[in-house]
Amino acid sequence: MQFHYAISQGHLNIWETCQRKYQYKYLEELSLPEADPHRQASLLLGSNFHLLMQQMDLGLDVSVLAQSDRQLQKWLKAFNESPPTMIEGDRLCEHRRTWEISCPAKLDQDIDLDFKDGGDRHQAYFVLTAIYDLLILGKEQAQILDWKTHQKAIPQSQLEHNWQTRLYLYLLAKTTDFEPEQLSMTYWFANGADSVVINYRAADYDRTDRDIKKMLTAIAQAKDYPQVDISSHKCEYCEFRDRCDRPHQQNLEPVDDINLNIFASINNIIEIPEVAL
Ligand code: SF4
Repeated sequence: MQFHYAISQGHLNIWETCQRKYQYKYLEELSLPEADPHRQASLLLGSNFHLLMQQMDLGLDVSVLAQSDRQLQKWLKAFNESPPTMIEGDRLCEHRRTWEISCPAKLDQDIDLDFKDGGDRHQAYFVLTAIYDLLILGKEQAQILDWKTHQKAIPQSQLEHNWQTRLYLYLLAKTTDFEPEQLSMTYWFANGADSVVINYRAADYDRTDRDIKKMLTAIAQAKDYPQVDISSHKCEYCEFRDRCDRPHQQNLEPVDDINLNIFASINNIIEIPEVAL
């Protein structure tokens, strides 16, 4: 039997942010369930909005669900009045796509990425995974749509840098016959009814292809997982700050706004739990 290690945008964003955080979160699974009741409620509301959008796209009556919460009504009204521009085509809600990729592995790693039975022990096998809120496959174009409910619109430059954008477009290019220039991704921010559109290019695809292979090889061959330098200020937003004995914000040196925004945006691109079909 082959062992395949699933890789989502969260894995790639966190590996790039801090390898120690990757170790705690994905290898040792030390994350605790969300304890803050306000944040719990916020996540549930976001999940319900995704369910509502899915049901609406299937032509179902969403009035009862929408009336269950004023915020949901507000977001639905915002969508009906200012929806993102959408192409014509086949519409796929909560749609999962995967792509298998292998990389050179070390032999003594803690997580067993190698073939157990008859496989190549020098290779690690990963399954890149994306779940699209809505994917529209047209004749000449394909469009990914992603609903964001918990933040103001994030600038395009930061979204382009984020692994959600990079992985989702890359996987679509890998698994369809569309050229990169025929693909785009639209983030729709429900609080302000703002759309941010990312158009894809062959150069983006090539860069992501190189970066993903490099990153997965590093993950497969990692022997230890270093903490980030404290001056990077990445620890300020990290759930493992106490475990790492990193000081709280008031003890840190000032940080420039650009870097602070980048780390904040990575943490703010919340992964809403998948909607059950
Ligand atoms: S507290 Fe800092 S060093 Fe520790 S896991 Fe988080 S980001 Fe990494």
